[in-house]
Parts: sequence; structure tokens; C-alpha cells
Amino acid sequence: MGASNAGGLRSMYSDRVFLSHITSDPNLGQDKPVFFSLYANISNIKPDQTMWYRACTTCNKKVTESLGSGYWCEGCQKNYEQCSLRYIMVIKVSDPTGEAWLSLFNDQAERIVGCSADELDRIRKAGGR
Ligand SMILES: [Zn+2]
Repeated sequence: MGASNAGGLRSMYSDRVFLSHITSDPNLGQDKPVFFSLYANISNIKPDQTMWYRACTTCNKKVTESLGSGYWCEGCQKNYEQCSLRYIMVIKVSDPTGEAWLSLFNDQAERIVGCSADELDRIRKAGGR
């Protein structure tokens, strides 16, 4: 966003592609990561998966429940009292050229859902489901 080059300010949409650009080229991203923007509709959020993981509040890596109490972070090599939930969400998107499944990580999912994973988990528990 807001990137500039010798020719002046670039449009923030200059790397926007259609889904077919990605789905029609199986070699895309094989050698090195590639980045682009999409403009697509979300047609489905995969319901039969865990939509978040327990994350370390310091490094955001996945933590495991400790035998005693709290959560163990392999990344920090430390036990913490608290952990936070971070989204990892699988969604289906479509545009005029086709559809594709995408993985969303915490920051993007938060913007789409409208609240944090911790909040959504609280709402779900309060609803008794
Ligand atoms: Zn950590």
C-alpha cells in the first residue's frame, strides 16, 4: 500500500489480479513467494475446522497445555499462565474468473469477522455451543 517508484506514486491496486491468474498457473510461487491483491467475494467459511489456535502471547507461536498449569511455548522455551487465541481460517472466494480456497491468518480474519478470536470464543461459550 502506498508504495512508490521512480515513476511516482503507484496505485495500491497495481498488483491486483483475477483469481484465474493464480489458479491457472500451477508453477506460480514454486521458486519464490509471490504477492498480489485480489478483489473477490467470500462465498464460504469452512465450518468443520478449528478456526483458531492457542498462541503464545509473546511470540504468537502455537502453545501446548502444560501438565501442571498454564501453557508451554516451544519457541520461548517458557511456561505461561495465559495464552491468546489466533485465527487460522479457511475460506472460499470467488470472482468473475473462478473460485479458490484461501487460508486467512489472524489479522485478516479479525477484520472480516469483526472481533478477535478470544472474543468470538467467549460469545460461543456464552451461547452454550
Ligand atoms: Zn512464545
